Amino acid sequence: MTLSIPFSNSYASLPPHFHSRQPAAPVAAPQLIAFNDTLAESLGIAPGPPEDMARVFAGNETPQGADPLAQAYAGHQFGNFVPQLGDGRALLLGEVTDKTGTRFDIQLKGSGRTPYSRGGDGRAWLGPVLREYVVSEAMHALTIPTTRALAAVTTGETVQRETALPGAVLTRVAASHIRVGTFQFFAARGDTKALQALFDYTRTRHYPDVETPNDLLSAVIDRQAALVAAWMSVGFIHGVMNTDNTTLSGETIDYGPCAFIDDYHPDTVFSSIDRHGRYAYSNQARVIVWNMAQLANTLIPLCPDQDKAVEDFTTLVHSMPTRIEHAWLTRFGAKLGLSNPDPEDRALIEDLLTLMATDGADFTNAFRAIATSSARDQFSDRNTFDAWETRWQARIASEPDPRALMARVNPAFIPRNHRVEEMIQSAVAGDFAPFHRLTAVLARPYDDQPDALDLTRPPTDSERVRQTFCGT
Ligand code: AMP
Ligand code: MG
Repeated sequence: MTLSIPFSNSYASLPPHFHSRQPAAPVAAPQLIAFNDTLAESLGIAPGPPEDMARVFAGNETPQGADPLAQAYAGHQFGNFVPQLGDGRALLLGEVTDKTGTRFDIQLKGSGRTPYSRGGDGRAWLGPVLREYVVSEAMHALTIPTTRALAAVTTGETVQRETALPGAVLTRVAASHIRVGTFQFFAARGDTKALQALFDYTRTRHYPDVETPNDLLSAVIDRQAALVAAWMSVGFIHGVMNTDNTTLSGETIDYGPCAFIDDYHPDTVFSSIDRHGRYAYSNQARVIVWNMAQLANTLIPLCPDQDKAVEDFTTLVHSMPTRIEHAWLTRFGAKLGLSNPDPEDRALIEDLLTLMATDGADFTNAFRAIATSSARDQFSDRNTFDAWETRWQARIASEPDPRALMARVNPAFIPRNHRVEEMIQSAVAGDFAPFHRLTAVLARPYDDQPDALDLTRPPTDSERVRQTFCGT
């Protein structure tokens, strides 16, 4: 074996009911699609020959030091509590530590059935694997906390969905895979001892300054508030903000039916299963508060004075909308060149968004145009835009270098849905060039890339993607 990964296995040392140990189920003919050299290097993973990497990242060979296991968790799916979910198609191989001493999970997704698979086949098809690879790496380049993609392989097997589709496995890297649903798993069983162990593990791994459950809740609320504001600032809709898809680390996880807005509207929903718009673009700021309330519930048994805990946690959860508001104002203020926005700037931002919504302006291109040139062409209602622009010019007159700030935070490139779909269709037909091109361009979202102007174009009516689907 030539591929060496410096694994350690801290999650495996947690009590047995935290996980279920098992090897991956081998696949017929693994072939490497992509290996993320830059990420690998930062994790101290040296690349090996492509055949070796294909075997390891398909699960056909368990690398030395790995201790593969499926993690147990529960979760609220669309508001309904499911006491047992767990990794039904994923395996944690182990953890590696980067140069700064931060520990990361290395997980295979699509690696076969586990005790948590319920009716599923444990597999993934190529589309969701490439979608997660492209979108998670794009989110990272957009400076948004996220799980990442280390490798993708095809399996040489088909998986049966509505039709037979090519199988694939993604290797995901995460600060951890601890979810609100992991806490719910033990809270629902009344297993306070396990909850305490999970609490201690989580604070050691993610929040070394945290001492009490109250501290932890506050710290997670801060990270999640910042995260949702960051999503909104690039027009990102997660699509399945179930509590099992909300991390304690504050990273974005689970790129299922996620999508970026082209023409801005706050009610936008893409996910085919989100019939009531629970996870619509502008609802994300409310849903995350609900998810934090669920986390709060699980932490109560860890508190000596539970009545006091309920009171304190309620205060914390109620403080979250203000924290989101603050993070939102910072993000959107920066998009308009405001280095230190104050609450009075909210109207300036809101009025622009309202104009975009009524006008059907492209979210990304309009902000980029305001940042780099005149955005007048982006709007059909030019009089309203002109009036808004006059107010904005007056406001930024006192800013030291608004254009430089705006250039840093308004991307030219996002993973547009129609380009992601097109890339998947090419890959299914055997052409991975669009995947490699998208990955390369999206790694530098703030740079003008004249060769890639086609990737800044909004979809035509026939190209428009109206629905996205879970990555099953
Ligand atoms: P997700 O939609 O990725 O958040 O997954 C929700 C739950 O369904 C998790 O417990 C997954 O492990 C499980 N799941 C999703 N797809 C599959 C599959 N193909 N086989 C087995 N379990 C799956
Ligand atoms: Mg999930």
